Amino acid sequence: MSGPSASAAQRTIAVVGDAWTLRILRSVFRGQRRYGDFLQSFGVSRAVLTDRLTKLVSHGVLLRDVSGGGHPEYRLTERGLDLWSLFIAMWLWQIDWGTAQDPDTWAPDVPRLQLTHTGCGQTMRPALRCQHCLGLVTPFETQAEPRPVVASPESAVPSTAASKFRRVRQAAPAGADPARPSQRLVRMVGDRWNNAVVAAAFRGTRLFSQFQEDLRIGPAQLSDRLSELQQLGILQARSYGGIRQEYRLTKAGIALYPLTLEMVRWGNRWLWHEGHPLTIRHQPCDHILDARWHCGACDQVLLRETVRFS
Ligand SMILES: [Zn+2]
Ligand SMILES: [Zn+2]
Repeated sequence: MSGPSASAAQRTIAVVGDAWTLRILRSVFRGQRRYGDFLQSFGVSRAVLTDRLTKLVSHGVLLRDVSGGGHPEYRLTERGLDLWSLFIAMWLWQIDWGTAQDPDTWAPDVPRLQLTHTGCGQTMRPALRCQHCLGLVTPFETQAEPRPVVASPESAVPSTAASKFRRVRQAAPAGADPARPSQRLVRMVGDRWNNAVVAAAFRGTRLFSQFQEDLRIGPAQLSDRLSELQQLGILQARSYGGIRQEYRLTKAGIALYPLTLEMVRWGNRWLWHEGHPLTIRHQPCDHILDARWHCGACDQVLLRETVRFS
C-alpha cells in the first residue's frame, strides 16, 4: 500500500469488508447462482470460495438450495436482498472516490454502470434523504443516541423481565461481543475494526485514547488500523497540543457516511437480537433518522424493485 495513491478499492475493502465476499454478493445480485459460475467469473481459489459461501450461508445472507437435484444454487435471502441499498452507497462512493481503471477494485465495472429508476425511466444519481423532513442526510447534522433504544419484540416485555432476557441473550452466542450493529455487518462481510474506527470518527472520536476507550481495542491493534486508514486516505492525523495527535476523516472518509448509515440500518434491522440497535437523530428536524435513497431525477423513494444497473 502506497500513501495517498493507495487504490480506492483498497479503501473500500479495508473499510467495508472482504473483497471475495463482496465479489460473491455482486455476482449473486446479478443472477449467478452456482459454485462453478463464481469460480469462473473471478479468479478465486476453491478453499476461499467454499469458506466465504459457508459463512454467507451461516449468517443467513445466502441460502443453499439443493431442491433442483443438480448442483446446489445459492440465492439471496430477504436479509441478503436487503443489502441492495448498501451496494448503492458503495457504488456512489466508487464513482466519486474510486478509479475505474483499478484492476483490484471489488467491482471493476460497477462505477461505469448507470443506475436507472424504473419508476420514471431516467438514469440518475440517488440522494439520501431523511424520511421525516426530506432533507439531505449529511454526517454533520446527525447525532448517534448514546442510550440504548429497544426496538424489538422485547419492548412488549416488562422492563425487569426484558433486562434479564437481554443478559441471557448477550451471553448466549459464543465469541460474540457487544459490538454495535455497524460492526457486526462488517464482521460478516470483512474487516470490522477499520469500519469501527471510521464509525467512531463519525461519532466525533479524535484522539488515540478516545478510540481505545470507545472501541475497547488494544493499542497495537488500534495503531495498525489508524495507520492503515491513513495510508488509504480515509483518516488524516494532525498534531494537537504539541504532543498528542488527533485523527480526522478526510473528504473521502466523510463520503463514507452513507455506507456507515447503511451498515447501521442493515444491522439494526437484521441483527438487533445480537445487541442494542443504534439510534441516530437527524438534528434539523429532531427526529430519529430513517434515511432512504431517493431518485435524483423524480425524487421518489427508491425500492429494490425499482432500481436497475445498466
Ligand atoms: Zn429530518
Ligand atoms: Zn425517478
